[in-house]
Amino acid sequence: MSVLDGLDDVGMGETILEVDGLSKHFQSDTGILAGLFGSEDVEAVDDVSFDVAKGETIALVGESGCGKSTLARTILQLIEPTGGRVAFKGIDLTEHSQREIRPLRRDMQMIFQDPQSSLNPRMKVGQIIEEPMQAHDMYTKAERRERAKDLLERVELEREYYNRYPHEFSGGQRQRINLARAMSTDPDLIVCDEPVSALDVSVQAQVLNTMRDLQEEYGLTYLVISHDLSVVRYIADRVAVMYLGHIAELAEKEELYENPKHPYTRALLDAIPIPDPRSRDARGTLEGDVPSPINPPSGCRFRTRCPSLIAPDEYDLADGEWDRLLAFTRAVQRRTFVPGYPDESEGLPVGTVENRVDEEYFPDGRPDGAAGTLVEEVCRSIADREWDDAQALVTERVEERSVCATDRPQYALPADVGDGSHFVGCHLHREDAT
Ligand code: SF4
Repeated sequence: MSVLDGLDDVGMGETILEVDGLSKHFQSDTGILAGLFGSEDVEAVDDVSFDVAKGETIALVGESGCGKSTLARTILQLIEPTGGRVAFKGIDLTEHSQREIRPLRRDMQMIFQDPQSSLNPRMKVGQIIEEPMQAHDMYTKAERRERAKDLLERVELEREYYNRYPHEFSGGQRQRINLARAMSTDPDLIVCDEPVSALDVSVQAQVLNTMRDLQEEYGLTYLVISHDLSVVRYIADRVAVMYLGHIAELAEKEELYENPKHPYTRALLDAIPIPDPRSRDARGTLEGDVPSPINPPSGCRFRTRCPSLIAPDEYDLADGEWDRLLAFTRAVQRRTFVPGYPDESEGLPVGTVENRVDEEYFPDGRPDGAAGTLVEEVCRSIADREWDDAQALVTERVEERSVCATDRPQYALPADVGDGSHFVGCHLHREDAT
C-alpha cells in the first residue's frame, strides 16, 4: 500500500500541515558546524508546534540563525527531526522512510533565496521546469512541454523563454522561473525560503504579487521564511516569530503588527526603520547578541536580551526601580558601564564608582534592601576592576533568579491568550505569570 492511500482530501481552510513538538538538534562534531561550535548539541529547533490551513500563507520570521530555515527543512523531512511530529494531509511524515514519502514530495515544493544558484546554468528553462514532473513520472513528454510553457505564462514570462538559459534573465525573472518549476507538479504546499530577499526592492513586490495571484488561482498554501518584516506584512496571513529555535509569538498578521505582545516581537517591530529622513527618533533596537544554540539560556531563551525580564520575587522594588536595576545589570554584563579608571591597571575608590552608578542609573536614589546591597557589592567589584565577579553577581543574583530563568514559558500551541488565536511564549502572558 502506498503512503498516498492514506492522504486526506483537504478542503480550503482545513488543516493541511500539523507541526507538533518538532525539534532538530545537531551533533556539531559530525558536520560543518564542528569548526564553529565544537562537539556539542546544537538545539537549532526545539519544541515547535503550529498548524497551517490550506490556502493560507504563514510566515516564519526572525533574525539570522534563529532556526527558521532549519525548521522549514525539517518540516519537509529534508533533514531528519530529532523529535516531534509533522503531518501533511493527515500523513505523519516522521513515521515513514524517505522512499515512502517520495510520492508526496510532488505536493510539497520548495523555492530558495538565491534564484541565481538554484537554477542549473547548463539547463534550458524548459528542462528546468520539466525536471520535477519527469522525476515524478507525471504527464507525457509533449504534455510536460506544453505545461512548462503554460507555467511560464502563469508566472508572467514569455512562452518563448522555454529554450533560453538562466543567465539570460534578471533576478526577478529567475525567481519566476523557480516559481514555475515549483508549480509544475501541481503542489499543495510551497515552502519559500527568503523568496525575494536577493531581489531589488522594486522587483520584490512584483514577484510577491505573482505569488499571491498563483495562490488565489490554485489554492496554494505557502510557508514563507523571511527576516524582513515588511515582506511578511505584505504576503502573510499569519506570522510566527522565531527566536533561538522556539516560536515566541504566533498570530494573525494584523493582530501581530498592531498588538505585538512578546517583548522580542515588539523589539523587532521597533527596529524597523522609519521611512522619514527628517525623523531623528532613536527607536529601540535589540541589545546584546543572540546566544549560542549550544547550551541556550535556561527558562526563556530570550531572557538575556529581554527588556521586560520579570523581577525576582526577593526584590521589593518601587515603580521604575526594577527597570533601573535591570539596566544597570545589563550594563555590567555587557561592560557598557564606563567607570572612568585613571589608567589601564588602577582601580577607583568605591565611592567614586558608586557616584557614577547613581548618576547614570539611580538618579532618584538607589533601591533599598537586597537590591541596594547588591548594587553596593557590584560597585566594590568594579572599583577593584574585578569585572568577572561583578558580572557573576548580577547574573546570579538578578537575572538567574527571575522566573524567566527558572521556568520555561509554555511553547506549545494551541493558543491560550486573547481570542484564542494569538499565541505568546512569555510568562507575562500566562495566567500564572508573576
Ligand atoms: S518570559 Fe520573561 S524573558 Fe521571556 S520574553 Fe517573557 S518577560 Fe521576557
